[in-house]
Amino acid sequence: MKCWERFAVEGLTCVVTGAASGIGLAYAEVMAEAGAKVTLLDIDGELLHEQVTRLAAQGLDVHGDVVDATDRSAMYACFERIGERYGRLDVVFANAGIDSGPGFLDSDGQRCTQGALENLEEAHWDKVLATNLTSVFTTLRAAVRLMKPKGSGRIIVTTSNAAMINEAIVGTPYMPAKAGAASLVRQAAMELARFGINVNAIAPGPFVTNIAGGRLRNPADRAAFALRVPQHRIASTEEIKGLALFLASPAASYVTGAQIVIDGGMMYGRVD
Ligand code: NAD
Repeated sequence: MKCWERFAVEGLTCVVTGAASGIGLAYAEVMAEAGAKVTLLDIDGELLHEQVTRLAAQGLDVHGDVVDATDRSAMYACFERIGERYGRLDVVFANAGIDSGPGFLDSDGQRCTQGALENLEEAHWDKVLATNLTSVFTTLRAAVRLMKPKGSGRIIVTTSNAAMINEAIVGTPYMPAKAGAASLVRQAAMELARFGINVNAIAPGPFVTNIAGGRLRNPADRAAFALRVPQHRIASTEEIKGLALFLASPAASYVTGAQIVIDGGMMYGRVD
């Protein structure tokens, strides 16, 4: 087999959570375009229907299911249906996530009352942790039930560079939630290696998506964030597809427990 042939994912069954928009949609697109059978899961039924219809019209093998990734029983039932439909699950992207509102500083460096620790609403903390951490746990469990009997599988979790660096202008719950997801990836990778299941994380920096109300589509916010990236720009979701394909493919057979940062160098700080 030629090395490049090991990037093939044709015929694999794949599930993506938070697949109707942004990074999750890019994962679903690249997998389906490369010949995988992709189930897109999202809480937003209208957007999901729109995207699944668009991809199906291109002749891609896609299916959509409306499900809230924080609803455990709905998720387990959904994965059971996926198991019945395809008889196996090869690749799952645990990607659903939300932003966490204002941080303790505004983007102009002023203290933000709403984002201060003592003012953060407990319900807000609970929602961010439920979506960005606990839903990853649920997705992993649901996927492992289908992958373990086959002795193979790929689990890819979208964390963030905020799992490793702390941020003043991002709402405080986001960082511990993503750091927790990154830790869960390493823990699951250790446990599942002997069952042929690789577990890895993709840790993006700023990408233009609909997160935070599409904040990075706004030219002023975009410019402010770009200044913090050594490449001096915000990424397009097209730029995450190659990494997603790699981690899902046989080419990544010896990669497990890794968190691959894709952030234009932002982790290393501002360079003028
Ligand atoms: P997005 O808002 O464009 O897409 C997120 C999708 O997830 C949406 O379709 C939304 O409906 C869905 N979703 C939200 N809550 C859900 C739930 N409970 N159940 C099912 N679906 C749900 O955002 P994005 O930027 O593409 O975010 C995808 C992932 O990437 C998130 O985990 C986010 O934290 C992470 N991330 C994004 C960036 C960035 O700059 N865009 C940077 C680092 C990490």
